[in-house]
Amino acid sequence: MRIVLVGIQGAGKSTQGNLLSEKLGIPYLSSGHIFRQMAQEKTPTGRWLKETINSGSLVPDDMTLKIVLEYLEKPEYQTGYILDGFPRTVAQAEAFKESVDIVIFLDVTDKEALWRISGRIDNREDETLLAIRRRIELFHEWTVPVLSYYEQQGKLIKIDGEQEVVKVFDDVVAKLEKAEKKMKAKKVKAKSK
Ligand code: AMP
Repeated sequence: MRIVLVGIQGAGKSTQGNLLSEKLGIPYLSSGHIFRQMAQEKTPTGRWLKETINSGSLVPDDMTLKIVLEYLEKPEYQTGYILDGFPRTVAQAEAFKESVDIVIFLDVTDKEALWRISGRIDNREDETLLAIRRRIELFHEWTVPVLSYYEQQGKLIKIDGEQEVVKVFDDVVAKLEKAEKKMKAKKVKAKSK
């Protein structure tokens, strides 16, 4: 199963992604984590990445695609993955078209996300209020269209992310099971044609 998690920062993608990874036995991968690791390198690219991430801006699509796709070639990702933070633009989603089964949107208002993140600010160098606001802005500009893109393909599951963690997870699992059944039925139908 190839799953993508979408949501603004603070929506709970990493929490739900890790819970899901444990339940399904599929690896969890965060593009932000890859970039944060690369940003520690003392090279011009590392320094540039650090600046980009800390300002809350997006890494350009071509670079993102190159790095994430290369990462996904590793053997552990060949039977499935749970991606957090990628694809984040329609251009990325289009380039990654054949590699997604289900997209889970954790819906949380900007206000709730800001409230949640403000509680953990200072933990991460890229979590300044300015960077967070910029990331939320960019989410609406670049990532909300990704949701419509997947909705048109019938791959989108929408979850109320403002519930308690356990309730969100129960909803995710229930809706995933439903979507999986639908996917299987579709495949059987396509084969019998
Ligand atoms: P995240 O942990 O997902 O908030 O990602 C941290 C930072 O990494 C983002 O603010 C971006 O600068 C960069 N990043 C992560 N994923 C992507 C992506 N798919 N496209 C562009 N930039 C990304």
